Amino acid sequence: MSAATSKSPNAVARPTGSYALVLRLPSRRKILVGKLGLVDFPSGHYIYFGSALGGLKARVDRHLRSGKKLHWHADYLSAEVPWEYAWQLADGQRWECVWAAAATAAAINGGAAPVPGFGSSDCRCPSHLVRVNNAKQVRELLRSLSPAPRRLPRRA
Ligand SMILES: [Zn+2]
Repeated sequence: MSAATSKSPNAVARPTGSYALVLRLPSRRKILVGKLGLVDFPSGHYIYFGSALGGLKARVDRHLRSGKKLHWHADYLSAEVPWEYAWQLADGQRWECVWAAAATAAAINGGAAPVPGFGSSDCRCPSHLVRVNNAKQVRELLRSLSPAPRRLPRRA
């Protein structure tokens, strides 16, 4: 193939990478989460880890939007309580499993538990959703990740 006929892959580069979504569940709820069935969610702060190698902004925007069709496990939870904000790392890499593993370990050490099977149907992780007790633990946990995501500005 000649260079003249091949398209530059960077010609219309869209940021891709990984993200974390955060919401606060004010009280205990049982929520039907697709094939996972009825899941008991204790009150607390929840962090969900995902990645979007086909376009990060569109994916994060979709998660933060209400009234969407329920597709991912994350959608079932956010149909009850919407995701409040997101952190992301637009480096073109898929860090969701690395982050979920580190966050699960950190959350267990902090006394809060992951939600088994949530968001990890396509990988071997125990879970891609972690619960912690308060907003300070959310920040500490997300800042401790390597490589670290950055918090996106909250939308008006
Ligand atoms: Zn995973």
